[in-house]
Amino acid sequence: MSDFLPYGRQSVNDDDIAAVAEVLRGDWLTTGPAVTRFEADLAEHTGGTPAVAVTSGTAALHVAYAAAGIGPGDEVVTTPLTFVATAATAALHGAKVVFADVEPDTGNLDPAAAHAAVTDRTKVLAAVDYAGHPAELDQLRKVADSVGALLLEDAAHSLGSSWRGRPVGSLADLTTFSFFATKNLTTAEGGAVVSPSAELVEQARAFRNHGLVRDRARQRYPDEGGWHQEVHAFGLNYRLPDVLCALGSSQLRRLWAFKQRRAEIHARYGEGLRDVPGVLTPVCRAEADPMWHLYPLRVLDGRRRALFDHLRANGIGVQVNYIPAYWHPVFEDLGYRRGLCPNAEAYYAQELSLPLFADLSDADVDRVIDTVRSFFGV
Ligand SMILES: *Cc1c(COP(=O)(O)O)cnc(C)c1O
Repeated sequence: MSDFLPYGRQSVNDDDIAAVAEVLRGDWLTTGPAVTRFEADLAEHTGGTPAVAVTSGTAALHVAYAAAGIGPGDEVVTTPLTFVATAATAALHGAKVVFADVEPDTGNLDPAAAHAAVTDRTKVLAAVDYAGHPAELDQLRKVADSVGALLLEDAAHSLGSSWRGRPVGSLADLTTFSFFATKNLTTAEGGAVVSPSAELVEQARAFRNHGLVRDRARQRYPDEGGWHQEVHAFGLNYRLPDVLCALGSSQLRRLWAFKQRRAEIHARYGEGLRDVPGVLTPVCRAEADPMWHLYPLRVLDGRRRALFDHLRANGIGVQVNYIPAYWHPVFEDLGYRRGLCPNAEAYYAQELSLPLFADLSDADVDRVIDTVRSFFGV
């Protein structure tokens, strides 16, 4: 197809290219001043909450769970309506993943279902801001507090969103972002963990860099020599390089422009599709000011697959977000069964993500709308 329209795409301009080129010409390719700058720039968009840049959204989740100290015997309660990494990274730490169902309209973790799922073994309650719309963070905070668990917000979709006027990143104990190419802002691959807790930030920084301790005051063998660094807890190399952090800082300058354009496209889809019988357009809670990452159309009467095929055949790159996480064979083999979270399964059966990215033109949006309408004969 000559003019295939992807469902998501990066927006990279000359300023971004210049910012990356400048780092390439400099002394630091990996961990240098651009990392520190990007972490500070990011904090300006998260209500001042300190950030730790890492190599992906998946790494951010793995690091966040490490900072929370989860391991065998612990439980993590989360939503199945997410990319598998939200659950997989908890499982990789040896914790048991407990899926709680979603609200039928927003697709976000249902506080009542989360309340029913938590126990005194729950170490982390992990919500996802599906499509960019923040989860019910006040109620989920109460659920987490009721069992002494940490509240983690997988904000891979929702950098730039806010809830009751408070920016995403300032709401949970641990918030994770993804800067993959299709997300609200990109560093190609990349991510970050943010936390208002100095202790959690320190744990995250340590896990990002092999757990290495360089501070002599904290070392067990401080007199070993000037070269000495030592590991007190295992970690990995999840360092986001300077080159990519420079791209991130440059992109952040356009975050509000990206948000504005995504909102316009979202509204245009709403106007163009709201009256189509056979679909539901996304809802928005009064407390939420989303930076829309996805446009999750709901296709009724079992026609989602037919509409998906119709749009793809017409060169429109729709997606489905997401197959319930526990449907993946890896969870099935651990004993998780279909039927566990009926709302998430029903949502998945209807969901179709329309193209949504900052450089999408009104003409492209209208083409998508017209192709959907023609499918329904309206
Ligand atoms: C994209 C995404 C991730 C993983 O981020 P990567 O940067 O691709 O590793 C995790 N959770 C959700 C909800 C995502 O959309």
